[in-house]
Amino acid sequence: MEARDHQFDFDFIVIGSGFGGSVSALRLTEKGYRVAVMEMGRRWTPDNLPHTSWSLHRWFWRPKLGLRGFFNMRFFRHATIFHGCAVGGGSITYACTLLAPPEKVWASGSWSGLANWKEEMPRHYETASRMLGVTENRILGPADHLLQQAANAAGVGHTFYCTKVGIFQPASGVPGQTFPDPFFRGDGPERSACVACGGCMMGCRYGAKNTLDLNYLYLAEKHGARILPETRVVDVRPLEGASNGSAGYEVCTVKSTAWIRRQFRRFTCRAVVFSASSLGTMELLFHLRETGSLPDISAQLGQHVRTNSESLIGARTPGYSEDVSQGIAIGSGVYIDEHTHIEAVRYPNGSDAMGLLTTILTDGQPGPQRIFLWLKNVMGSLLRHPFKTVRVLQPLGWAREFVILLCMQALEGEMEMRWQRPWFWPFRKFLVSRGQKMPTYIPRANEFAKKFAQLTGGFAMSMLPEILFDVPGTAHCIGGCVIADSPGHGVVDGRHRVFGYRNMYICDGAVVAANLGVNPSLTITALAERAMSFIPPAAEMEWNDSPKSIGRPGLALSRSA
Ligand SMILES: Cc1cc2nc3c(=O)[nH]c(=O)nc-3n(C[C@H](O)[C@H](O)[C@H](O)COP(=O)(O)OP(=O)(O)OC[C@H]3O[C@@H](n4cnc5c(N)ncnc54)[C@H](O)[C@@H]3O)c2cc1C
Ligand code: SF4
Repeated sequence: MEARDHQFDFDFIVIGSGFGGSVSALRLTEKGYRVAVMEMGRRWTPDNLPHTSWSLHRWFWRPKLGLRGFFNMRFFRHATIFHGCAVGGGSITYACTLLAPPEKVWASGSWSGLANWKEEMPRHYETASRMLGVTENRILGPADHLLQQAANAAGVGHTFYCTKVGIFQPASGVPGQTFPDPFFRGDGPERSACVACGGCMMGCRYGAKNTLDLNYLYLAEKHGARILPETRVVDVRPLEGASNGSAGYEVCTVKSTAWIRRQFRRFTCRAVVFSASSLGTMELLFHLRETGSLPDISAQLGQHVRTNSESLIGARTPGYSEDVSQGIAIGSGVYIDEHTHIEAVRYPNGSDAMGLLTTILTDGQPGPQRIFLWLKNVMGSLLRHPFKTVRVLQPLGWAREFVILLCMQALEGEMEMRWQRPWFWPFRKFLVSRGQKMPTYIPRANEFAKKFAQLTGGFAMSMLPEILFDVPGTAHCIGGCVIADSPGHGVVDGRHRVFGYRNMYICDGAVVAANLGVNPSLTITALAERAMSFIPPAAEMEWNDSPKSIGRPGLALSRSA
């Protein structure tokens, strides 16, 4: 059956409205396509965002428990993964640090040789940076000054830099002042100047953070894209007549926030873009391969999942004269050695819930010995400074006094995700991590945290799950459907087309094929810009776009089969 015989609801359905999904939605509508974006999370505005992290129901995403926020934490054996879930994806909760990785990342991993990345990517980074309003942070708070002093004390002061961020910081005007759209020649919404409240990860209640709903998605909706919030995609299958999807697809959804009446809906489209994030796209594709909806997804699904080798440590500064929550969420960074990058991170005053997960810093290799050492450290500290120790272990006032040191290493390290029944819940399959454990103890980073704490007379701190379970926390999960030359090495080709299917793409962190060593959102945006640049205008589309497996070294990839 020919694709044109069907009455399609949309030309493209985009699954997920994060960085990859928003770029796709805007660029496709600009090219004349009818686009729907299915987004599992809610729509957020300055009026309904939580004031602090104690408003768990507005911060955390666990709809079955009545928590309908925008921040999710998923627990795996190899990592605790933090990610966003909202109209605007991770941009609502992210710290808006937008950094380009070093050029060497294009020469490693399965994407190397598949395109002239070094030549092609700069123009896409440029577009992504313009759209996301990237600028150098000009608001240095007490935490950033402390970071600089600690870097000086550690002999790496020359590496201190102000982060590149997506925040509106006008050259003139006062904090909080509203301006007509400063980014898109009047086509975008009005914006307010940053007030340095440190609340970026709790959602910006001032309209100063350049979240996707204020740029890409805003413009996509203006061009006619339909965004369906609280809509979770549960099935994608080729329409009858062509198992490779050339006759179009059926996309089924349920209401993600409903407990009982789940409002099952069915849509048809000619093409699908998976943009549900690395974790979300892997989860959906594993499920669809297993149920037989998309049986030809590559066996490489779930391979090469990376986390930027992160570790979260920090310092609590009771008695320090200044409120370290002031500033922007991530205002500055330093390199303590060639591979190890540390950023100073904060939550806004009053958002103390994360304080429940922090404890006295403990060195040593993971395992029972480290737990024993941690108990010894806590007991020792209680005996020496009972009041001070109790004070730093209780959460009240945590955000005002705590600087998180986000430590990222640009070292190669990856895990694998499988679709399995865990031993503790054999009734259904879930994503389960496998492979080498990521380091939770980075000795030089711990030394740095101690120097940082000394400057304020405070305590160096660790994350409790890293000590107890040897599981690092990360907000930067990438890979799992990587770009490669063939289905034997990855899930999509150099133009993000899914091997085994026609008119099907993946545009999100899942395609990233190397460890970036920096926060990934700018790269995900730039890659999506590049992928969308290959899609022809609607009037020229033949609806026959399929990937090409090629041998190395990479040859130009053609659009049609
Ligand atoms: C607290 C925090 C701070 C961060 N800070 C930074 C930072 O400063 N800089 C940086 O570069 N990165 C940061 N990140 C990481 C960044 O948010 C992610 O890398 C980025 O959002 C990934 O983009 P994406 O396009 O892959 O998907 P996402 O932005 O994660 O979007 C995917 C969307 O798909 C939706 N979805 C998933 N499954 C389905 C389904 N079945 N049906 C419908 N919708 C679905 C999800 O709800 C989500 O909204 C941070 C993350 C967190 C959690
Ligand atoms: S510091 Fe506050 S005002 Fe500035 S971008 Fe972040 S949340 Fe918005």
